[in-house]
Amino acid sequence: MMTDKTNDLSGDTGRMSSDNTDRDCCPLCGGPNGCAIEAGREVESCWCMRRAIGEDVLASVPLSLRGRTCICPACAAGGK
Ligand SMILES: [Zn+2]
Repeated sequence: MMTDKTNDLSGDTGRMSSDNTDRDCCPLCGGPNGCAIEAGREVESCWCMRRAIGEDVLASVPLSLRGRTCICPACAAGGK
């Protein structure tokens, strides 16, 4: 006698990987900001520690993102 039981385990692993923290993106151009902190590296190794960012560039960053999201080297250079 054969009991054909198809054990259908529909393993629906509802992953919550949609983390919408775009902290690794430049708020000005949307590109990667290359921030060492976001990459899990030393703060000292970040490019922004070695380069002065113009006040006019910082002023163009939306207030809600200022101090929370890094801008990218290209935008920091103000080359636009
Ligand atoms: Zn940028």
